[in-house]
Formats: sequence, structure tokens, C-alpha cells
Amino acid sequence: MIVLVDRDGARGGRGSRALSRALNRAVGGARGVSAGAIATIGALVEEYLAILGEQDLPRPRLEFRANILARWLGVDVWRPSDPSTTTLLLQKSILGHPRTLERVVAHEVIHHVDFMRMSAREVEAIRLGARTRDGHGASFLEKAALINARMGDGFVTVRSDEEYVRAKNARPFFLLIAPLSEPLVGGYYSIGDRFGWAWAARLSPDGSTRAAQKLALGARLVATTDERWLAGAKIKKYGGYSVPRMPEDAAELGRLFLEEPEAGVAASLRSWAQAQAQAGA
Ligand SMILES: [Zn+2]
Repeated sequence: MIVLVDRDGARGGRGSRALSRALNRAVGGARGVSAGAIATIGALVEEYLAILGEQDLPRPRLEFRANILARWLGVDVWRPSDPSTTTLLLQKSILGHPRTLERVVAHEVIHHVDFMRMSAREVEAIRLGARTRDGHGASFLEKAALINARMGDGFVTVRSDEEYVRAKNARPFFLLIAPLSEPLVGGYYSIGDRFGWAWAARLSPDGSTRAAQKLALGARLVATTDERWLAGAKIKKYGGYSVPRMPEDAAELGRLFLEEPEAGVAASLRSWAQAQAQAGA
């Protein structure tokens, strides 16, 4: 995958940004990548630049992401505002899969070389927004053939940064569990022993607000890596809860609600919500 970015757009937002950052860190969003993994990737970049005869080019910057359910495994980003090199983004989930990691790095190194070899005219056209780019055209295929001659047929393909099976999700995500209320006559509700859930990989400032509101209504917020819950509703504005269909899922949700320690962030969400309420009062 390639990405051309026109400008470094920092999106506007209100308050609670620091809180959402802290929350996301708490469930592992900023886990480090080992020095060994970075050295391995660096060596792969050198290897493929050498195969392409492009050792004199600047090296790409390296960044990591941990996006649950992301479609891409690797992306190479070039910005007209910073044309001297590109940024190679990799999903952390591929770090434990040497063959996949190699194929993704090889694919993105080709994009890096193509970006770095753009003519001044091409760069200018992109700057003016007058150019779209077929990142997997003739130039890409030619370089893929050079690498495949060394590594074997099909090692690099136009989709080889998207198509593999990744590691099972091992990154904790937020699970909001709420007792479902049953309407009774006279406008009363009974809180039964049935539970619904919603999840979020990260809590945005708005998501934090909403989670805090739900906690105030008796929901609980736990961290889990259990993928079954990823099929359910997301924590979002006007979002509801998913209800387990299978008895074993319902039982597990009840167990999580009653027995699992809440994510360490739930307490800070509660006190934050209180502070918000006081500030607003
Ligand atoms: Zn690509």
C-alpha cells in the first residue's frame, strides 16, 4: 500500500485528549517494539535496497501501529511537505511472523524507492494536486521481479502487504459490559442477570465521555483480548449494546462483569466524569 499525504493534518478536538491518551496507553496501545525487531527490519531494508541497487538512497523512517482489524500490514507514506524520505508504517501484529514481515518490508521498500526516484516534475504535480499515482504500475512490477528473482516467485505481489493471516489479536481492547434493563409496567425497570456489551480498540475523547456516562449507569469497563467480542457493537455515540446469542457467551459476559477486575482506567474515568459534572454544575 502507498499513501500520498498532502498535509500533516492535526484534527481539532476538545478537552479530555490527555485522558484518552492515558486510557489508550493503559490497555497497551503504546507498547514498545524490541530493539531486536527494529534491527531486523533495518537489515531487511538494507537487503532489499541492495537487491534493487539503491543503497545510496535515504533510509525510510520506521513507525509502528497496532490497529485492530486493520486491512493493511504495511504502508509507505510520502509527504510533499517532507520530500527527503518516506515513512514505513508496520502493524505490530506481523512482528512475530518473520516471513510475512520480510514480504511486507520488501513490498514497502519498492514504494520507498519509487517515491525517492520521482522526478522533480512528478513531485511538483503532486504538490499541486494534479497527479494521481498508480503505485503498483510498471515501475513497481519491475522491481518486484528483481526481488522475486532472488527470493522466489510470488514473494512480492501487488497485494503482499495486505493479504496474509496475521497473529491472533493479542492487544487488549476495552469491553464495556452493561446489565440489560427490562421494562416493567408503571415505568419501572428491573435489572436482570442479562448483559450486553460494546467494545473499542481505543477510546477517543468522545468515547471516553460516553464510557464514563455508561459507568455512572452501572456498566463496567474491563480490558480483554478475547476476540469473540470484536463482532459486537462499538462504543460510540447513540450506539447500543450487543446481546450474546450463545449461552456460553452470555455466561462469560456475566462472569467478566462480576469477577474480572475493572480496567485500571475505569476509576479514572469515573473521577473524570465527576469532575466534568462538577465543572458543568
Ligand atoms: Zn503497495
